[in-house]
Amino acid sequence: MKRFVYADNSATTKLSERALGAMMPYLTDNFGNASSLYSLGEKSRAAVNEAREKIAAVLGASPREIYFTSGGSEADNWAIKGAAEAGKRKGKKHIITSVFEHHAVLHTLSALEKQGYEITYLPVYENGIVKVSDLEAAIREDTCLVTIMFANNEIGTVQPIAELGAVCRKKGIPFHTDAVQAVGNVKIDVKEMNIDMLSLSAHKFHGPKGVGALYIRRGTVVTTLINGGAQEFGRRAGTENTAGVVGMAEALCEAAETMDERNARNREICDYIINEALKIERSRLNGDREKRLSGNINMCFEGIEGESLLLLLDFNGISASSGSACTSGSLDPSHVLLSLGLPHEIAHGSLRLTFGDGNTMEDAEYIMKVLPEIVGKLRAMSPLWDSIKENEK
Ligand SMILES: *Cc1c(COP(=O)(O)O)cnc(C)c1O
Repeated sequence: MKRFVYADNSATTKLSERALGAMMPYLTDNFGNASSLYSLGEKSRAAVNEAREKIAAVLGASPREIYFTSGGSEADNWAIKGAAEAGKRKGKKHIITSVFEHHAVLHTLSALEKQGYEITYLPVYENGIVKVSDLEAAIREDTCLVTIMFANNEIGTVQPIAELGAVCRKKGIPFHTDAVQAVGNVKIDVKEMNIDMLSLSAHKFHGPKGVGALYIRRGTVVTTLINGGAQEFGRRAGTENTAGVVGMAEALCEAAETMDERNARNREICDYIINEALKIERSRLNGDREKRLSGNINMCFEGIEGESLLLLLDFNGISASSGSACTSGSLDPSHVLLSLGLPHEIAHGSLRLTFGDGNTMEDAEYIMKVLPEIVGKLRAMSPLWDSIKENEK
């Protein structure tokens, strides 16, 4: 029996009923501009303030440190360009990051490189985790920013953020983390983890698309990205996305309340699939088995193309990805898988399955009914697989 399974929750998630319910009044009758003085505007302003308080509470921040943005990409751009500009004013133009960041970070940094900044890319090794000692060794007198993601969007590996943050704090260097994949799935306390800036995006935790936030610790110097009105404490102009931020706050509270339950269910789903799929010959799990998001599976199957695998999975009702949604459309293997040291031909046969609210063990069983057959079918047609088998002899 064909079944519809959405297994691409790292690309985006379904809006939760609770978030939609919270948003509805601000998409309909309560449409006032949050900056207007009359009572209709006052309602929106109160809702925006309340959303800021709720988000701050989940992260261990104060409301004054939460700045709303149009999503994760904007938050990353703002944190990085803002800290780079502030650094330049002090004659500091060196930035440290990791090789496997999201493109919202990597492409922002290559734009800065063209403007004369020097970027150090820390390796992530076979397990997909940055070493704290590598960061310590890379820091220079002129380092103005360290930006390292909390959890990787392709292989789900979780970085030692508190330790990395402690190194930066000791040296007085601003520390930014792209936590878009982690927020809602991992317990985060920005104060305990020594984080100066943190990016998040609502649509990755069952909130609406096109809205996110940047946490900026009080005292962190970041210049303005969007000039205009006085919104977001005069640091990010534009009429408040009232419904969006209300939906984001509601979704985040819900994600925090249901985190343990969801992680337990995701772990059950993923353990089952990983154990079963590893029985397929010449398959491998990418990234550390333990230090990863509970809902992430990233595997390679030698001798096949990730794209063909996705098409056949889709034909069977399963939405999955070969890596990042942002790199599909290009035929290059993922920079994340290459950063683990995987050869091109193996990185090509990758599959990412990511689970969230709504997924069940029945989904997992259905996937494992379909996947081995598809891999077998594709290998039977693959000249690459023939030569792998030939070499085995
Ligand atoms: C999705 C994602 C982004 C981009 O967020 P948008 O809200 O889609 O702009 C940035 N970083 C990571 C790690 C992501 O997974």
